[in-house]
Amino acid sequence: MSKLVIVGTVAFDAIETPFGKTDKILGGAATYIGLAASQFNVDAAAVSVVGGDFPQDYLDLLSDRQVDISGIEIVKEGKTFFWSGKYHNDMNTRDTLATELNVLADFQPVVPTEYRDAKIVMLGNLHPLVQLSVLEQMETKPELVILDTMNFWMDCALDDLLNVIKKVDVITINDEEARQLTGEYSLVVAARKIHDMGPEYVVIKKGEHGALLFHNEKVFYAPALPLEEVFDPTGAGDTFAGGFAGYLAKSDDVTFENMKNAVIYGSTLASFCVEKFGTERMVNLKSSDVQKRLQQFKSLTQFDIELT
Ligand code: AMP
Repeated sequence: MSKLVIVGTVAFDAIETPFGKTDKILGGAATYIGLAASQFNVDAAAVSVVGGDFPQDYLDLLSDRQVDISGIEIVKEGKTFFWSGKYHNDMNTRDTLATELNVLADFQPVVPTEYRDAKIVMLGNLHPLVQLSVLEQMETKPELVILDTMNFWMDCALDDLLNVIKKVDVITINDEEARQLTGEYSLVVAARKIHDMGPEYVVIKKGEHGALLFHNEKVFYAPALPLEEVFDPTGAGDTFAGGFAGYLAKSDDVTFENMKNAVIYGSTLASFCVEKFGTERMVNLKSSDVQKRLQQFKSLTQFDIELT
């Protein structure tokens, strides 16, 4: 088992979907990644920042699941990062209504000393300079650095983002963001261009249409599980990333072959995340639920054609 460092937002989210609307609830990339990775009982630490307005109960959700939170700074006089979004009827697309950086604006991350030798680093969504600073604090070169980002940072910090992208092994990005980053419509061409920017592995997430893993000329595809109920896709991408990173940390194997399994774990966990608003489903997720769904996943894609 490898140590895992997670960086990302810990946030308040206000979400609107065709099924309802929430006030400020728990959200943030590091929250979803931490909850997903905790399914693998790995030795993980979250690095982030919150304001004095952030309830201790929310932080406890991570520490109760053995995610070290000593790297989550609390700025007593500050306000927590706030994001608000509204989903379209197809639930695959959304508009961001508000992004208030608050304490994130001046955040100087500090990786806890005991985690500076972690083998896996998951750079979740936040300012690319914060992602870079976390990487620079690592005392031994991590075996695998995974980066997740979004259009917001492409719009307001593209040069910094390109600089971090250069330094990572894996990028997880959604289809529209891959197109924005490369100016290419074809995801195969986009993946090749992102590959040329630095990452050896490119994961393109396609919402309810699954995820693609590219490595040189090789490609692997995992569908998303067809679900009866999708209430709120918020955090699905982060949950995918947390499942991907958590599985790799647990299995101590960062080959392309094992990354295929990591994509399946990521997709499986993301399929739970969308079933309830916010983090609710992930907080109540049991490992027996995960095992059952992995079996469904296997049946969904298993076939037996004899090639002549
Ligand atoms: P996802 O649905 O996987 O893209 O992640 C949604 C989560 O990302 C929400 O919980 C937000 O708090 C968080 N988020 C939204 N915008 C940003 C941003 N610009 N940087 C970092 N985290 C963000």
